[in-house]
Amino acid sequence: TVGAIGYGSYEIYSKRHPLEQKPFDPTKRTVVVLGSGWGAVSFLKSINTDDYNVMVVSPRNYFLFTPLLPSCTVGTIELRSIMEPIRFITQHKTRNVKFYESECTDIDPESKTISITDVSDIKGSVSNTTIPYDYLVMAVGADNQTFGMAGVREYACFLKEVWDAQKIRTRLMDCVESAGFAKQAPEEVDRLLHMVVVGGGPTGVEYAAELHDFLKDDLEVWYPELADKFKITLVEALPNVLPMFSSQLIQYTESTFKQNKIEVLTKTMVKEVADKEIKVMDANKNLVSIPYGLLVWATGNCPRPLTRKLMARVKEAQTSPRGILVDDYMRVAGAPDVYAIGDCTFSKYAPTAQVATQQGLYLASVFENLARMEDGQNKKITPFEYSHQGSLAYIGSDKAIADLPFLNGNVSVGGVATYVFWRSVYISNMFSFRNRFLVVGDWMKSKVFGRDVSR
Ligand code: FAD
Ligand code: NAD
Repeated sequence: TVGAIGYGSYEIYSKRHPLEQKPFDPTKRTVVVLGSGWGAVSFLKSINTDDYNVMVVSPRNYFLFTPLLPSCTVGTIELRSIMEPIRFITQHKTRNVKFYESECTDIDPESKTISITDVSDIKGSVSNTTIPYDYLVMAVGADNQTFGMAGVREYACFLKEVWDAQKIRTRLMDCVESAGFAKQAPEEVDRLLHMVVVGGGPTGVEYAAELHDFLKDDLEVWYPELADKFKITLVEALPNVLPMFSSQLIQYTESTFKQNKIEVLTKTMVKEVADKEIKVMDANKNLVSIPYGLLVWATGNCPRPLTRKLMARVKEAQTSPRGILVDDYMRVAGAPDVYAIGDCTFSKYAPTAQVATQQGLYLASVFENLARMEDGQNKKITPFEYSHQGSLAYIGSDKAIADLPFLNGNVSVGGVATYVFWRSVYISNMFSFRNRFLVVGDWMKSKVFGRDVSR
């Protein structure tokens, strides 16, 4: 995502101790925000807490900078470098923001209440309760799409959350160590060292790219006896990877992958997933088995159970199975005073951090205008307008691709210089100086000492 959020300097000037913040004011309306991802945090950053009491409910007590998550699966960057506690983010507000680490399990738009459940392993005497709201902002993101295929949740790894990256890293090292186990059969070594990525969207491509770098730079050095056995395969149902990029960049990516010996199977659809192999329908409509050691599943998004539950409650207005329908003001169709932003919505834009961020900022401005109108000021609420700042992706061997809007057209660039640009964009988009400092430190550390190969 291009488009700086510009949070870095803000944090230094407005940091407050929670006791210096104003307490909840019963005369003010309460806005409950569901989620602590891109949409929620960009809303929280801008909402004026002089006007509202704000409460956040999320099973994650931190924000996660997802664009650098693929780098964490191989240890180029450490996970904590791209996490920021939600309380760090809300310390800048003039009024204290309440945070509950819990999952919202139901929304009742009629009584204007939500049900929440404590998600921690250690629970107190209360672990389920209901909370009233005046306004609700849903920013719960999306679930991993599996198409209901048996075996995916059981045997594959997703790449969306911190624990997914940890699981991938552990499984990868397990595969490598098991392949090196005494008297391992050659065909079993080949299977264990075959890393299969399903889905040629940006998540699958960036993961395959990071994995390639790790194999080349580190694993082949530390495990010379296995060096010629590592294999990466990317499986994509469509005729090419990265359909959202220009044809020139698609070709560039596919030829870079070819040079890097990443096998790309296009027009190939996964049909079955078992513990040691997948079955795919290849371009000639043959059903073929592919044995694997590590399977990473990146076939896009689908609505979360909470999103589906809300859609079912107001099903006359919610007619799309792909996500919440909102109007141009982010209002949820059929549920008054409920707003939705980011990946949980179904809109004409791709589900990206860029969209979620702009929607969060926009919604905070809507709330600001609503408050000023209540003060008697003459304000007008204009509809949301998305401004596309471009698309970027890392494709391995220190190369990135970028499709950038320029004047009335588009500029497509790829290569090492684009990779430097890619890095600078992500660093400038990070939410805090602390994150920037840690990520730059991780990049330097992995360049100087190599990546850590411990399990
Ligand atoms: P999220 O950021 O996913 O946040 C959802 C939040 O809701 C989380 O805090 C979650 O814990 C919480 N939640 C979930 N269920 C509940 C519940 N029941 N109750 C309360 N809270 C709940 N986009 C880009 O623009 N550029 C990129 O480079 C890019 N790279 C990516 C790389 C990867 C590996 C991935 C997975 C995604 C990437 N994206 C990128 C997409 C981007 O991360 C998403 O579009 C973005 O996170 C959407 O923001 P969101 O706020 O809607 O959801
Ligand atoms: P995606 O929806 O972009 O791509 C999923 C791919 O999986 C599709 O190309 C689809 O054809 C393929 N697929 C689906 N079922 C399949 C099957 N059974 N067998 C083989 N292939 C199959 O999903 P994503 O890559 O996870 O990205 C999700 C969202 O996050 C997108 O909006 C994306 O733009 C965004 N994102 C952006 C970046 C970036 O900008 N660098 C990085 C990661 C994610």
